[in-house]
Amino acid sequence: MYDLAIIGGGAAGFFTAINVKRKHPTWKLAIFEKSQTFLGKVAISGGGRCNVTHACFDPQVLCQYYPRGKKELRSVFERFGPKETIAWFKHYGIAIKQESDGRMFPESNTSETIVDCFLDACDELDIELYKGMALQSIEAGASYTLLFQNAKVKAKNVAITAGSSQSIWQMLQTLGHTIVAPVPSLFTFNIKDPFVEDLMGVSVPKAQVKLDLPAELLKSSGLKAVDITQSGPLLVTHWGLSGPAILKLSAVAARALHDCQYQFKIKVNLCGLNQEDCLAVLLNIKSEQSKKLMVNTPFFEIPNRWWQRIVQLCIDNTQMTWADCNKKTLQSLAQKLSDYSLEVKGKSTFKDEFVTAGGVDLKDIQFKTMESKLLPRMYFAGEVINVDALTGGFNFQAAWSESWIIAQSI
Ligand SMILES: Cc1cc2nc3c(=O)[nH]c(=O)nc-3n(C[C@H](O)[C@H](O)[C@H](O)COP(=O)(O)OP(=O)(O)OC[C@H]3O[C@@H](n4cnc5c(N)ncnc54)[C@H](O)[C@@H]3O)c2cc1C
Repeated sequence: MYDLAIIGGGAAGFFTAINVKRKHPTWKLAIFEKSQTFLGKVAISGGGRCNVTHACFDPQVLCQYYPRGKKELRSVFERFGPKETIAWFKHYGIAIKQESDGRMFPESNTSETIVDCFLDACDELDIELYKGMALQSIEAGASYTLLFQNAKVKAKNVAITAGSSQSIWQMLQTLGHTIVAPVPSLFTFNIKDPFVEDLMGVSVPKAQVKLDLPAELLKSSGLKAVDITQSGPLLVTHWGLSGPAILKLSAVAARALHDCQYQFKIKVNLCGLNQEDCLAVLLNIKSEQSKKLMVNTPFFEIPNRWWQRIVQLCIDNTQMTWADCNKKTLQSLAQKLSDYSLEVKGKSTFKDEFVTAGGVDLKDIQFKTMESKLLPRMYFAGEVINVDALTGGFNFQAAWSESWIIAQSI
């Protein structure tokens, strides 16, 4: 009989195992992993560098990076947040460094440091590790009976840390849990439009992007005005648009965009001004730089290539000076710079970093303990629950925090 059986040998599974065993050194504890590799996602995460957390130390601010789980994670982060994560790794001799955008990585710049730390800690703590063992069914009773292909295991407590797993969700549903249907989050938008065509690589540091969704969809998805407008760097890719502003929209509206099958409109503002103010700036440029060619005088931190394209969408004659430009053309330019409407047709994966929105309904979980409200002594952490975050180390932070809570309460 195991004191604790952990299903899934990923980030959440290992963090749970190590922390529980540190608290209960005499416990018999094992991790059961379906694949032949432990910590597969940790190894490839953050481009092989593992973005372990984010330098955001205020729980209230940190929660805002979680489109699903914002409310529930607040108290979790108050108990174990990025500061505690850094201290935890320091205890194992791993220094964590901060990059200019707030992302935090092991100083070694390789995820191997994190994988080795977890494997060594399990070895030291005598945690049993089993690969190639996919859970096939769970029976709940006075203890849990776990069925694998060639083995039957009994455990007093069970922690489900199996990530995004359809079969695990089905088992949990059979046991009475509600599963929020999984949909992709964190993706880029596919767009074919002269506004961005063949401009791969150009970017603006601060743009505003707004989802232009049908009113019924907005209503049914519960999205608010603050959700559907996001600001930040915007990047043109081979397929369309990416960058933090787009990724934030994809995460916040993951379910609504899935519901419209990724066919929708967005409005892009590259200048940070409304159309009227933008026109006033353009009129000023016209009077102050009248002799210059329009295509050669970019403004609003818009790179040359993108500026030329936008100007060319308004004028036929590339030799036109600001002086030659009439008010109607300036109005058209102001509209394109401040309120350009683009059709999105499909999505693409962001740097292979696919994250799933959906999983065990948060209403079924007691966040003080991470225990199921339906089944005593069954705990959850990581991607298996309906929590997901923006890119930047937040997904791992949720996994560490939830796992740590399990260890404190079990
Ligand atoms: C390419 C990529 C890069 C990423 N980079 C980052 C990053 O830098 N920073 C960040 O914060 N987030 C990142 N993420 C997200 C992050 O990896 C996940 O949020 C995190 O791994 C979730 O941890 P987990 O333990 O819940 O799930 P997982 O890491 O997916 O682990 C779950 C484990 O359970 C196993 N399992 C599934 N079903 C069963 C079963 N029936 N029986 C037994 N075992 C089972 C799986 O094989 C898996 O090993 C990245 C994601 C990807 C795909």
